[in-house]
Amino acid sequence: MSGVILPGPLAGGGRPATLGVLGGGQLGRMFVHAAQAMGFQAAVLDPDPASPAGRVADVHVATAYDDEQGLAQLMQRCEAVTTEFENVPAQVLASLAAHRPVAPGAAAVAVAQDRRAEKAHFAASARSSGIGPAPHAVIEAEADLARVPESLLPGILKTARLGYDGKGQRRVTRRDELAVAWAELGRVPCVLERQLALRDELSVIVARGADGAMVALPVQRNLHRHGILAVTEVFDGLLPARLAQQALAATQAIAAELGYVGVLCVEFFVVDDGSADGALVVNEMAPRPHNSGHYSIDACDVSQFELQVRALAGLPLVAPRAHSAAVMLNLLGDLWWRDGEPVTPDWAGVLALPGVHLHLYGKLDARPGRKMGHLTVTAADGHEARRVALQAAARLGLAPWR
Ligand code: ATP
Ligand code: MG
Repeated sequence: MSGVILPGPLAGGGRPATLGVLGGGQLGRMFVHAAQAMGFQAAVLDPDPASPAGRVADVHVATAYDDEQGLAQLMQRCEAVTTEFENVPAQVLASLAAHRPVAPGAAAVAVAQDRRAEKAHFAASARSSGIGPAPHAVIEAEADLARVPESLLPGILKTARLGYDGKGQRRVTRRDELAVAWAELGRVPCVLERQLALRDELSVIVARGADGAMVALPVQRNLHRHGILAVTEVFDGLLPARLAQQALAATQAIAAELGYVGVLCVEFFVVDDGSADGALVVNEMAPRPHNSGHYSIDACDVSQFELQVRALAGLPLVAPRAHSAAVMLNLLGDLWWRDGEPVTPDWAGVLALPGVHLHLYGKLDARPGRKMGHLTVTAADGHEARRVALQAAARLGLAPWR
């Protein structure tokens, strides 16, 4: 990556620079919104003609991610390309990068795509940060099953590639269940992780420029339900300062040691270690903006998507400031169903609450478990943000949390 891509019309007229994104989901849509707000044009590559991002982009190339004509079209139109979809073949990023600035780079995305490489990278960066991955073993062949140490059970068997929202995972309590679980996952390469007793889950989002400059959003606290993010909370006093500082330092080490350029999210577990605050374990990373950073659109003066635009265009990365406390609730397709009957959620009731910001992604088919949107409650302090968010949750039929 070199050079700066400026937004808006050029001196003497002419089309504004176009930023491209591989993937047309909600992350791509919010990237497009941020790019367009700043005066860039935006292009999306996604095979779905009705994809959330494709529908709002200036240009939608509706082909497969590895379609040569589609990629050529994207490359001709775009001054730089990023991704919102971490399973885009790393080879595609590498071939685009021969012609255009691409961030994040293929090598970093390849590490994030494979839990084996990802955990090896976490273990290496633990040498500087002191925060490493969960105890685990790699399963690639039948013989690896017998070698699994007893200490990893009960554990979670996860496919090395292509998992998301808890998909591609099996809980394994006893050794004799391992072979069945591996067969159910198609005997593909997997990682078996010890099942940890989680006190909490955190995530950290950083943006890193080609010059190595790094900025971060405030550390997020996340609650998952059924393997899917349900609630993110971000406000002063929520987390022990030492834990937040350690999570930030570990994320910075992970990004720097990858030579990462762009927005990166690293997820952490908090486990008991006898200390008052608990200890951190690195779970996984996403080479893109993350669901746990959506609150930044409404609660920070620079959102994670604006950071993605800035990093891609080589524009300055300024440190985001949170101007409000925030609680984000994910809105899954389940909200459109009650007792097997379709219903429309009470948006008017939710929007009557102060500080509620509703985001729906333009998906028309509300399937259970599908991420349809999110809402962020902003308020002057965390107590108020949580109070209103719990009210919003009650109006939508979502379960409360602590
Ligand atoms: P994402 O949608 O974040 O990419 P994923 O499918 O890659 O999710 P993970 O992040 O590995 O899945 O796991 C999803 C959730 O399952 C975690 O956030 C955590 O709540 C739980 N979980 C995963 N691994 C463990 C573990 N080793 N011990 C305890 N809980 C775990
Ligand atoms: Mg995860």
